[in-house]
Formats: sequence, structure tokens, C-alpha cells
Amino acid sequence: MTTRITHWIDGKPFGGTTERSGDVFDPATGQVTGAVDLADDATVDLAVASASVAAEAWGQSSLATRSRVLFRFRQLLEERSADVAALITAEHGKVLSDAAGEVQRGLEVVEFACGVPHLLKGGFSENVSTKVDVYSIRQSLGVVAVISPFNFPAMVPLWFVPVAIAAGNAVVLKPSEKDPSASLLLAELWAEAGLPAGVFTVVHGDKVAVDRLLDHPDVAAVSFVGSTPIARYVYEKGTRAGKRVQALGGAKNHMLVLPDADLDLAADAAVNAGFGSAGERCMAISALVVVDQVADELVARIADRVATLRTGDGRRGCDMGPLVTGQHRDKVASYVQAGGEAGATVVVDGREGEFDGAAEGFWLGPTLLDHVTPQMSVYTDEIFGPVLSVVRVGSYDEGLALINDNPYGNGTAIFTNDGGAARRFQNEVQVGMVGVNVPIPVPVAQYSFGGWKDSLFGDSHAYGEDGVRFFTRGKVVTSRWLDPSHGGLNLGFPQNT
Ligand code: NAD
Repeated sequence: MTTRITHWIDGKPFGGTTERSGDVFDPATGQVTGAVDLADDATVDLAVASASVAAEAWGQSSLATRSRVLFRFRQLLEERSADVAALITAEHGKVLSDAAGEVQRGLEVVEFACGVPHLLKGGFSENVSTKVDVYSIRQSLGVVAVISPFNFPAMVPLWFVPVAIAAGNAVVLKPSEKDPSASLLLAELWAEAGLPAGVFTVVHGDKVAVDRLLDHPDVAAVSFVGSTPIARYVYEKGTRAGKRVQALGGAKNHMLVLPDADLDLAADAAVNAGFGSAGERCMAISALVVVDQVADELVARIADRVATLRTGDGRRGCDMGPLVTGQHRDKVASYVQAGGEAGATVVVDGREGEFDGAAEGFWLGPTLLDHVTPQMSVYTDEIFGPVLSVVRVGSYDEGLALINDNPYGNGTAIFTNDGGAARRFQNEVQVGMVGVNVPIPVPVAQYSFGGWKDSLFGDSHAYGEDGVRFFTRGKVVTSRWLDPSHGGLNLGFPQNT
């Protein structure tokens, strides 16, 4: 039995024409559990038309109205977070506790957006010129599109949707076709919270839907998260069509361990950040850069910890779940093979693990490779799986140079007890999000999330102040109330007196 997963248009499930459809798997059983509708151009057009109508009224709604809807949505999301998490685990595979964590981080952005009356406050200057006042306002854009990846089916949409809606826009979300169901539950909760029909729309699909959104003249802005090649494509195509675009791409996150680090803390952090969500996080640590003198000891401590991890069905209390698809599992396993053949030491081989789940599940256990060099594909490529590569370096400077030479610049971390070294690192590293003894430094909602270099195209990061600016347009009003003393003809450029 497979469930049909439909679009959500005009405040309700869209049972219209069946177009193409895609298989949705339960990664822990390997079985197809759903068939997701994949939109064609006509369905995208219908969705954008509904959103355009809704955007007009919503953009004029009071800040009080918007913040009340957001507070209600926040409450509902908290109450239903276990249900959202269950949907994520069923289609993505990550363990339930991790899925709940992702919902919680999304909730934080909703809480940030609840403060919309404060976030949209403008500036006011009285008497910039005699009896002339100036003030700034921020207005909504209209219809904005959010295109999200498979690895955070709730959190990544929630990075953008609450802020865009709070700012008065209507949002068309195009979630990943691999795990589309969580977005529909979010749509139900928005409706229950009192959001008018059409302000939040879900269109499922693949490249066809994405291309139509990027071409559509009524879509004003696009927030994209996914792999670097697609992020670059979306940025180039979207901006060419005159849209505002922020496109967050892939990553290769390094954790630099200096000799004075607390090695138990570093080993715990490397395991948690390397293997959490089976390494399918854009902030996962995949390259562990260790100064030689402590490398043997750190690798041994990590291997001890990995031996205690249970990989299996995310509903059974395991530490790590399966990979998202069989194809992706095979690709990640091929990197392990290539690493071994290129001369890396396979300290722990996840291909040989035991798994607490159905034999057909998309399993690969945590894998630890040592003596990885920067030339190996296991180092150069974003693997997006449970593979931690140890690269040994002679010094802080060598480690820093390695990180800065990498084309990606999403997240990084330094582990040390030397405050001076940490301070140098935060200043010198060419990466957008930096952790000091914190392995996954995802910024809290009042800051903004975003990488540098090939990890982000565009100049706005997600949520926080950047998010508010991205989803609004600034306007500055210069006003003077009639005062006869300022009358008279003067064709010169206005000067302030
Ligand atoms: P992906 O690039 O394959 O897909 C992302 C989105 O783009 C999906 O909605 C998909 O349907 C769409 N898409 C796929 N191919 C397309 C094409 N040819 N044309 C137009 N649209 C297309 O990424 P994914 O596999 O779903 O997610 C994993 C990737 O996302 C990793 O590279 C990861 O690092 C990255 N990611 C980055 C961040 C970040 O904040 N920088 C966060 C999460 C994930």
C-alpha cells in the first residue's frame, strides 16, 4: 500500500490532475511507501496564481494579525512536534530523537518571527532639514519560493517560511521529493493557526517545478538550499530572471584539533558531528584535521566510541539510522572503497556493520578513515554520509591553510584550550560559521545561517536579520508638511538646511 502525496494549494490538498509521480521510500525497510505528485508547469502556475491573490491581502494585514497567527502556529507546532518527527523518520530515516531536534531548531525560527512587530520597525529622523522628517519602512515582496533539500524536511523550510510570512509575503514551498510529507503537516498547522488560504502553498516536484518557479514572472524571490551545483544553477537562472535569490549549497566541514585540546571532548564531538543523522547534515564534520602529536590517541578514542554506536531503524532507539536511498548508500560506500584503494587506513568499515532493521534498509555503518590526504576523492568531495576522514597536519598553520584552500566554507570548528589560538582561528578562517569547542555551530535564530565561497550564492544568509531584509524591500520617505516659509522656485539639487 502506497500513499498518494498531493500538493497543497489554496489552503487545501490539491487533488487535481495526476501528473508524473515519484517514489517515496522508508529507508529503514527499503520499501516504497508513497507516490508523490510531481508538478508540471500548469500546476506551478495555479499555485503561484493562488499565492499572488493571497499575497495582496496578507501584505496589507496588520502586524498584530500576523504575529497572532505566528504565535498560534508556534503553539501547534510544539504540540504536534512528535508527529512531524515521525513523518521525518519514516521518509528520511534519521532517528526519532534527531528528527525531534530538527523540529525544535525550526521552532526557534518561528519564535523569532513571532517578534515581527519589532523586526519590521523602521527608522525615523526628525528635522533632517528644517521641518523635514525622514523615515524608513520595509514592505513585503509578494510571492516568494522556497526550495528545500531532503536532509532537513522540516527545519530548512522553517528557516525561511515563518520569516517570509511574518514579513507579509505568500510562500510557495517546493520541498524535496524524497521526503515530502512533513511539509504537508506544516501546511495543515498553518491553516489551523488561521493563516489565510494561499499564503502558504506546497508544490511537490523536481527540476520541472523548480525551473517553472525560477521563470515565473510573479515569483519575486527564491530561497534555495541544496547541493552546490544546483545552488549555483538556481542562483544564476533566478537572478537572470530578475529575482532576488539566496542559494545555500553544499559543504565540507573541517574540525581542527590542536594538541592542547581536551581529547575526550574532541572525540565525543567528532563522533556526534560526524555520524549524527548518518552524516547527512550540511554542518556535519567530515574532515577531522588533527595535529600529528595527538592524532594516534584521538583516532583510538574515536574508534572506541564508534564501536558502541547502534545503527538501525530510527524508531527503535538506535544512535544512527539508514541513508536516504539505496542509490545514495551505494555512492557513499564507493567513496570508502576509493579511499582505501587510494591509501587511507580504514579504521572502522561501516560496510561490515550489523544493523537493527530490515535487511532491505539502506544501511551503512559509521566509517572512520585515517591518513586521508587532500588529493583523495574522500577528501575533495562532499560525501554526505557517515564517513569521517582524518587528515594529519604538522601545525595550526597547516591545518588553517587546508581549510582555507577548500572551495566550501559552510561550517568549521576548532578544538583547543588555547584562547589565543581560538581567537586567531575565528579571525583567519574563511568560513561562514565557526565553532570554538562546538562542533556544529548552527547559529541561533536571532543570528543568521550561511556559509562562504561555494556554500552560498547571493549575499543574504538565512533567518535572523538577513532573513528579514531578504524578504522585504526598503523604502525611505522624506516628508515636509506644508510650511509657507519653504516655498519658492529652486531648480538646484535639494540640500539640507
Ligand atoms: P539537491 O541539490 O539534490 O536538491 C535540492 C533541491 O533542488 C530539491 O528540492 C530538488 O528537488 C531540487 N533539484 C534537484 N536537482 C535539480 C535540478 N537539476 N534542477 C533544479 N532543481 C533540482 O540536494 P539534496 O540531495 O536534496 O540535499 C543535500 C545537499 O544539500 C547537500 O549538498 C547539503 O550540503 C546541502 N545542504 C546545504 C545546506 C546549507 O545550509 N548550506 C543545508 C542543508 C543541505
